[in-house]
Amino acid sequence: MVYKNYINGKWLSSDSKKTFDSLNPATEQGVGKFQKSDKIDVKKAIKSAKKAFPVWRDMPAPERAKYLWKIRDCLIKEKERLAKIEVKEMGKVLKETRGDVQEAIDIFEYMAGEGRRLFGYTTKSELPDKFAMTVRNPVGVCCLITPWNFPIAIPAWKIAPALICGNTIVFKPSSDTPLCAIELAKIIEKSGLPKGVFNLVTGSGKDVGDEMITNPDVRAISFTGSKKIGELILKKAGIKKVGLELGGKNVIIVDKDVDLELAVEGVIWGAFGTTGQRCTASSRVVVHKNIKKKFEDMLVKRVRKLKLGSGLTADIGPLINETAVKKSASYVSIGKEEGSRLLHGGKARKIKGKGYFFEPTIFTNCKSEMKICQEEIFGPIVSIIEAKNMDEATKIANDVDYGLSNAVYTRDMKTAFDVINKGETGITYINSSTIGAEVHLPFGGVKGTGNGTREAGIEGINEFSETKAVYFDYSGKLQKAQGIE
Ligand code: NAD
Repeated sequence: MVYKNYINGKWLSSDSKKTFDSLNPATEQGVGKFQKSDKIDVKKAIKSAKKAFPVWRDMPAPERAKYLWKIRDCLIKEKERLAKIEVKEMGKVLKETRGDVQEAIDIFEYMAGEGRRLFGYTTKSELPDKFAMTVRNPVGVCCLITPWNFPIAIPAWKIAPALICGNTIVFKPSSDTPLCAIELAKIIEKSGLPKGVFNLVTGSGKDVGDEMITNPDVRAISFTGSKKIGELILKKAGIKKVGLELGGKNVIIVDKDVDLELAVEGVIWGAFGTTGQRCTASSRVVVHKNIKKKFEDMLVKRVRKLKLGSGLTADIGPLINETAVKKSASYVSIGKEEGSRLLHGGKARKIKGKGYFFEPTIFTNCKSEMKICQEEIFGPIVSIIEAKNMDEATKIANDVDYGLSNAVYTRDMKTAFDVINKGETGITYINSSTIGAEVHLPFGGVKGTGNGTREAGIEGINEFSETKAVYFDYSGKLQKAQGIE
């Protein structure tokens, strides 16, 4: 099946006349052919978004919200079907793809409610008979560029706030998961959104992404992906509003005296959920020396039981593609060369001769400065580092360039608050894993994880709106601020 771009309310073939394939990572079979779009397609999409902008901007926000409700209702109806498509195209296990669709439902629901808020504030003017307030205005044409690991939720996290704030959209999904994007676009189309408000263009980062970033009619870029591409976008975008949600090197700290079963469960979920391909994946575990051996024994015992295979039946699905397998394999070699000890896993696997599978892998006796403890691997590999005490653990936790999520298992209040207050991350979990965001809280990170924007919650509204200060003078004379006579 050949899928098309969605521009100005129509499904169109690319000007390039070229297509690319998206593969099922468990079977290596194609799931469809997609438009390998070029700059001309992107320009068309941006033009249509620009034309639609005044109509959408001028529609009252509670009216805009009605479209978001329809999208939310349709997502609920289609949840199971979408979750199964996602297993086929992205590979993660069904219970997680259901969660991905649920996150999309949640954000459309939350942002539809924002249609009746979108608050500004009022304040007192320093002058008499003058009223002061702020209002939120949309930014304009927004280009959304997304990765493949949450192919429904991440686009939804951008589309819902962008729409409710009154922006128009050109969306470019990852070329590893274009089918999920097309299915989401079909649902958005069903809501009856005015033509041109939402546009979808598939294709490479180089051809499609570059035009989005540099086109002068685009006012904002919202990007989720790797640090490398995020930095490149920031350099190229010039004076545009740029939101960056980048990688992570997240950590779970395990104190002595904790419920070790609970901590082990959290590490398995954090390190091997989504086959380690989450920006919030727990790729480091810093363990108190007193319980390290016991913790490792319990962890390995549990991990041995995990079954690799298709996301429809197994505990751990495949990696996204061959490149990801090579990347994980190379970090296993690096880990061994650096002197850490392989406790479990370490190998790429095929099932019936096919698929990009990789064993859940545990390294121990790792040192914080090792590459496997510093670089984002984005595979099912976790490194265990020993700490003498919780002060040292907190320092090790911060010893990376990234700052998305951290977690601590502890019964000690001071340790918990030290991790909250001194941990250099945008998200902290106490007594749970590094993953599990909820849509009404801000999502994002510090340091190499981003440039200060946050998605979801009210912060998601900040990303997609401009705040305007309004001075309303009803004195009937020229009044000058700062006491100028
Ligand atoms: P990626 O950076 O390779 O690609 C992301 C998107 O950027 C894709 O759509 C890609 O086509 C596009 N792109 C590539 N080159 C481009 C260019 N030159 N100009 C414009 N666009 C370009 O990342 P990925 O492999 O798809 O995703 C994995 C990364 O995403 C990991 O680093 C992960 O941590 C990160 N991620 C972050 C979050 C977060 O919220 N912080 C969430 C999920 C994933």
